[in-house]
Amino acid sequence: MKPSEINVITEMRLNGQGASAIAAALRLSPNTIKSYIRRHPDLPGTHRCVQCGNTFSQPEGRRQKRFCSDKCRTLWWNAHQEQINKKAYYTLVCQYCGKEFESYGNKNRKYCSRACYQQSRGKQLG
Ligand SMILES: [Zn+2]
Ligand SMILES: [Zn+2]
Repeated sequence: MKPSEINVITEMRLNGQGASAIAAALRLSPNTIKSYIRRHPDLPGTHRCVQCGNTFSQPEGRRQKRFCSDKCRTLWWNAHQEQINKKAYYTLVCQYCGKEFESYGNKNRKYCSRACYQQSRGKQLG
C-alpha cells in the first residue's frame, strides 16, 4: 500500500465511504481495502467514543477526549458512578455495637469507630 493510497483511504473513510467505493476509486480489489481497514480500525486523528463506540475527530495538540459528545460523557458517568461508588464503599456491621457503617476501600473493617475498637478490646481483656 502506497502512502498516497493510504491518504485516499483515510480521507474517504472520514467521509463515511465504504471499502467498495474506496476500492473503485483506487482501482484496487475491495478485499485489499477491507483487510487494510481491519488492520487499521482506528483512523488517524480520530478516537472511539467510550460510550457509543462511534469514532470522532480529535483536534491535534488538545487534551485527549474520550467521548464524542457531552451527552455521551454524561451517560457514561451516570452509568459508572454507581459502580465506582459500590466498588469503593462497603456497608459493614460493627462487631461491637452492631451499628451499620460504611468503610471506604476496606471490607475487612470490624468496628465503626476507634471507640468501639477500644471498647471491644477492653471487653476481651476483661
Ligand atoms: Zn459517543
Ligand atoms: Zn460500633
